Order: sequence, then C-alpha cells, then structure tokens
Amino acid sequence: MTATRVLVLNSGSSSVKYQLLDMRDSSRLAVGLVERIGEETSRLKHTPLTGEAGSREREEPIADHEAALKAVAEELAADGLGLDSPELAAIGHRVVHGGLKFTTPTVIDDVVLAEIQRLVPVAPLHNPANITGIRTAQALRPDLPQVAVFDTAFHTTMPESAARYAMDVKTADEHRVRRYGFHGTSHAYVSRETAKLLGKAPEDVNVIVLHLGNGASASAVRGGKCVDTSMGLTPLEGLVMGTRSGDMDPAVIFHLARVGGMSIDEIDILLNKKSGLIGLCGDNDMREIRRRIDAGDEEAALAFDIYIHRLKKYIGAYYAVLGRVDAIAFTAGVGENAAPVREAAVAGLEELGLAVDGELNSVRSDEARLISPEYARVAVAVVPTDEELEIATQTYALVGDRNA
Ligand code: ADP
Repeated sequence: MTATRVLVLNSGSSSVKYQLLDMRDSSRLAVGLVERIGEETSRLKHTPLTGEAGSREREEPIADHEAALKAVAEELAADGLGLDSPELAAIGHRVVHGGLKFTTPTVIDDVVLAEIQRLVPVAPLHNPANITGIRTAQALRPDLPQVAVFDTAFHTTMPESAARYAMDVKTADEHRVRRYGFHGTSHAYVSRETAKLLGKAPEDVNVIVLHLGNGASASAVRGGKCVDTSMGLTPLEGLVMGTRSGDMDPAVIFHLARVGGMSIDEIDILLNKKSGLIGLCGDNDMREIRRRIDAGDEEAALAFDIYIHRLKKYIGAYYAVLGRVDAIAFTAGVGENAAPVREAAVAGLEELGLAVDGELNSVRSDEARLISPEYARVAVAVVPTDEELEIATQTYALVGDRNA
C-alpha cells in the first residue's frame, strides 16, 4: 500500500478549509469548507471529486475546531477516503506567521509548535487558529507527520534593506518589528508557474507578482527569490484591499487616537475591516464595483481609481527594485477574473515595455496565459494561484511516501 495522499488544512478563527490530494498526479480527491465554527449557524460543505456524487452540506451547530475536524473526517470516511487510511502520508497545515525562523516547510513537533505559539503576538488573528487546527489534527492522527507551510517563508530571502523599517533598531528588534510579508505560498507558486509559462527556469526570470484577492499583496521576485513584498509586520500594509487600507501615513493612527478619541482597538478594526474598497464605496467585491461604475456611480469609480493608482505605484516601485522585469503576473480572485483591473493597472506604462492586448485580456480561462501583445518587452500573464496544491506539494516533498 502506498501512502500518497496529503490532507491540506487551512484553519481560520471560525473556519476550516480543506483539500485531500493524491500526490501521484496532484489530483484532488475531495475539497470542503467548515464555516461559522462556534455559532448556531455552522455549515460544512463537502465535495467528493472521485465519483459522480455532488456536494453534501451539513447545517448544524459545530462547537469548535475539534468538532469541525471530526465532521470533516466523517465526510471523508463516507467517501472511502477516511483519515485512518494507510494511504494518507501527511497533513499539511497553512501557518500564517513563521517569523524569521521558519524559512522552509517544517515537520511539526513540540518545539516547532511552541515557536509558532511564540509568534502569536505578531499574528494575533491567525496563528492561534492555525495552532488549534494543528493540535486537533494531531489528536486525530498522532502517528502521522504534520507539516507546517508558512505564508512568510517565501519572503525570508528579502535583503535587510527591504525587510527593515527605518526606525530605532533596538526597539524594532526587541518587538520583532520588520517586514515579514504574507501570501508567500501563492507568490512562490505563481512566480514559478510564470517562469514555466515563459518556457524558462525560475532562476532566469524576474517577476512582479500581483496577488489580488480580498487581501492583496505584490512581490518582486528575482531569479525565483523574493526581494521585496508589500505586506509588512502584518497583512495591513501595501495595496488597497477589500477591507484593509494598505499604505498610509502611520500618524493617521495618532491623529485618530488623539483628535478623534478612538481607541487602538477601534482603529485596528477601522483599518483592517472597514477600510480599503469597502471603506471607500461600501462594496468590496470587484464585480459589484464594476457593475456600479458601468451604471455611472462616481463613488465606485473613485474607489476603483484609488485601487489602481496604488497598484501602479507598486508596479513602478518593483520595476525599479528589480531593474529588469521579464513578467508581471496577476493572480487570485481579482487578478484572475477582473480584466478591467489588469488593463487599468498597466495602462500608460508602454515606456516600461508593458502593454495588455484587449482581446487576450478579455478571454476567461482557468489556465495560466499571456495577455500581452507579441511586441511587448515584458510579458503580462494571468496565472491562477493554487495555494493548497503548493502546500500539498511542499508537504509531500518533505515526508514522501512513508510506506514506500
Ligand atoms: P481571498 O483573499 O478571500 O482568498 P479571493 O482570491 O478568492 O480572496 O478573491 C476574492 C475576490 O475576488 C472577491 O472579493 C472579488 O472582489 C473578486 N472576484 C472574484 N470573482 C470575480 C470576477 N469574476 N470578477 C471580478 N472580481 C472577482
């Protein structure tokens, strides 16, 4: 019996996303999501992909992550894909913050778990949920290797000139304040896939990756290694996002506290949850924003312009950081689907060798593809991201087939 399956778990504070993959051909055997854990209205949606059966949904209170994972295990077992199967090689966990220590995927033991715990002060929203997911999975299959794949790992190659903020070094070091960057699994995967699309080795290409989802980040990747990225100590910095402000003068916070009388927690919520596109126009879904713009809505049009202006600034900045750019890759929900965003982001940048072909840009596809005209010096690409596949691949590369 060969152990070639990997279960990927992405545990959030009130949700668990999961995928079971067979690493012989990287195929998906099942995918699913548990939402609103701890509420009365919890929901599990499970989709087996091995037969003809469609999705199944459970709507019942799911008290905590342990109950959620048990329910997932039951659903998988019902499809003959149970977690007790000898074919399961490992469980791969998305862990948001790995600090400076974790530069590669890591098999989890007590020491590793303690270190992930030690990073909670710099990732208070994410690491606790990841730890809960790991502990629950360990309890379910104590004999199985559990691997942590860190969002920050890909960015640990950044030089100090990009990673350090210009502040008092002693204070920064004492509180571990620096640029860590996030979405690293996606930036790693997409930059590699972009090189593949160009028919080149990752070492030979410089890529600007624009991961535009609800959260959004840009990275400058030289020869397969990240040299700068837009998110910082937390995922708040950088691009305009669905609900996060991205870059602003840090003194806005002092001003809101001193003059506006707001508490630090209120400002935290304001900038993380009520800013970005939703703060600017009341919508954070790019489809809805485009619909409103088409209907003549000026508030939505301004929100779009601010979003694009910031994006352009990062393209320009990372162009300068890299010196030579071979490709710009758009990915995630907005990057993969919103042709007007891609068109507007590179409009007027012909002098930099950047252009988008209108016809190619309007094609809808799940495949990685070029959307720049043949004459353009820099390739512009749409490259669907696949963080789960990347986590599974990294996990399997580390543990291999334990039964072989
Ligand atoms: P997350 O950061 O939650 O993983 P995704 O990468 O799934 O986000 O992106 C979600 C966002 O993608 C939505 O909020 C929406 O703005 C955008 N999006 C999804 N589909 C489309 C589409 N067809 N056209 C434009 N925008 C889209």
